[in-house]
Amino acid sequence: MEKRKSVIHWFRKGLRIHDNPALIAAIDAVQKNKDYVLRPIYILDPEWTQFWRMSANKWRFLHQSLVQLDENLKTLNTRLYVIRGTPKEEFPRLFKEWNVTLMTFEAEIEPFNQRRDALVKVNADKCNVKLEEFHSHTIYNPYYVLQSNNNEVIMRYQSFVSLVERINVQPALEITDKHKMKLEHRPPKDTKEKANASCYDLPELNELPMDESTLGPNKFPGGENEALDRMEKMLSRKEWICDFEKPKTSPNSIEPSTTVLSPYFSFGCLSSRLFYHKLKAILSKKEKHTQPPVSLMGQLMWREFYYAAAAAGPNFDKMVGNKICRQIPWKFDQELLDAWAHGKTGYPFIDAIMRQLRTEGWIHHLARHAVACFLTRGDLWISWEQGQHVFEELLLDADWALNAGNWMWLSASAFFYQYFRVYSPVAFGKKTDPFGNYIRKYCPELKEYPSQFIYEPWKATVGEQRRFHCEIGKDYPKRIVIHEVAQDLNKGRMKRAYDVHNGRRDEGEPSEKVFVKEETHKPLKIEIKQEDSD
Ligand code: FAD
Repeated sequence: MEKRKSVIHWFRKGLRIHDNPALIAAIDAVQKNKDYVLRPIYILDPEWTQFWRMSANKWRFLHQSLVQLDENLKTLNTRLYVIRGTPKEEFPRLFKEWNVTLMTFEAEIEPFNQRRDALVKVNADKCNVKLEEFHSHTIYNPYYVLQSNNNEVIMRYQSFVSLVERINVQPALEITDKHKMKLEHRPPKDTKEKANASCYDLPELNELPMDESTLGPNKFPGGENEALDRMEKMLSRKEWICDFEKPKTSPNSIEPSTTVLSPYFSFGCLSSRLFYHKLKAILSKKEKHTQPPVSLMGQLMWREFYYAAAAAGPNFDKMVGNKICRQIPWKFDQELLDAWAHGKTGYPFIDAIMRQLRTEGWIHHLARHAVACFLTRGDLWISWEQGQHVFEELLLDADWALNAGNWMWLSASAFFYQYFRVYSPVAFGKKTDPFGNYIRKYCPELKEYPSQFIYEPWKATVGEQRRFHCEIGKDYPKRIVIHEVAQDLNKGRMKRAYDVHNGRRDEGEPSEKVFVKEETHKPLKIEIKQEDSD
């Protein structure tokens, strides 16, 4: 056993050195004692994927983030120790071997992470290791917000904003030269390292449990430096920031019309508190700027809002056992779900979005609205939980609280109740991309279709389809559902579910069949309304 005492900082999310209170607490503890050494760790836990779905794109993002984290730690004269194994098996060994006295980390609200932490605590207690956790993944401690509302979930965004406006946000913590480790605080090799000097080194990409053949283009590389650069680039567009209105951004522009900071917040490569203060500084210099919920600050507050709601209970990502979620009798259909998840619904706008998600790992918020509505109450009548699982795997920014919260919203299961406002899988995309450039990019088989047909290729005659080199049903799928019929049926189903929820009638399911393998009738003309969106 090592004679000197070790302090561990455990990186989980929060893959950054800037504004990282748990890391700074660990550094402070070490610097106060000349006999202490610092060991920043990351655990590559083989059991993690039992709880959290990970696409290859997401593994690559994580890998890139770890590489940058290690580089940044080296500027502080320390490094990242990558531990391979489960926390419950590795910590008892590490606590003893490294003579650990203190471990700091960022708090996490996800139930599976909390179960893991409860076990770690048992081990820590046995080994007399003090644990210190810090709420730095969000601007506000979600438990504090919840407590400030008498432990009641805040269901309305405006009430949330009014409540948190009264909470003082501490400045972001700077990491400076004074946090650099002196030689005396560098740990010696432990027995495992003596046997294998590289045992705690970063993994190679191919060590990660991923299928490299499914990697898409590296459009949003992971890492703290990438995050800070991206943030600064966004913040330099001051006019754009002050005029930002989310509903006016485009779901189907080829280049993103919003910041794409979400993957960096999700992995904690970027501190939301730092962004908040920088944003505030810019807004304070401008007399006129947009306001929540549509402003950029408003977007950050949506993140906080869902965190505060999710902190209230462990079943936030489920329908059953979730107090705030309306119980809607969704149906399960693997074939329809697969068609949706792989961009083969026959609706080019929906398919383009799902293909962008699968290849690039990020889609615009309103694009998420469109596909989430389509899967659930709009068209396919499949549970939001299924959609949530697909997003969890494919989104670089997948986040337990935000994913579940937004899925509940879109499926009108919680927070939002105007289920009769349904997105059209045809008209919605046309508003911002009438020529269909976005569809042409992600569904290239349709690229020769003129704009007249690009959103509704089934309307072209077979002769025209051949001329456009893409026959519907052969080169591109027939539509799996007739939206005009499905949305009416589903509005009826939603009404019944709401009535049951409100205690007005018994449960009962209509027997109509809407899913089609063959198109049988002409689409009706329908009125399209967009939901009140954030
Ligand atoms: P910007 O518009 O630039 O906003 C800045 C930041 O504000 C974002 O990075 C994000 O952290 C936060 N934010 C913006 N909109 C929301 C929102 N509606 N809810 C919560 N936070 C928001 N976001 C995730 O980060 N992870 C998810 O798993 C996730 N799942 C979603 C599932 C569905 C069905 C829907 C409709 C939305 C989901 N969102 C999720 C919210 C939102 O779509 C993304 O945060 C946003 O599109 C990210 O892009 P951006 O960084 O360019 O956002």
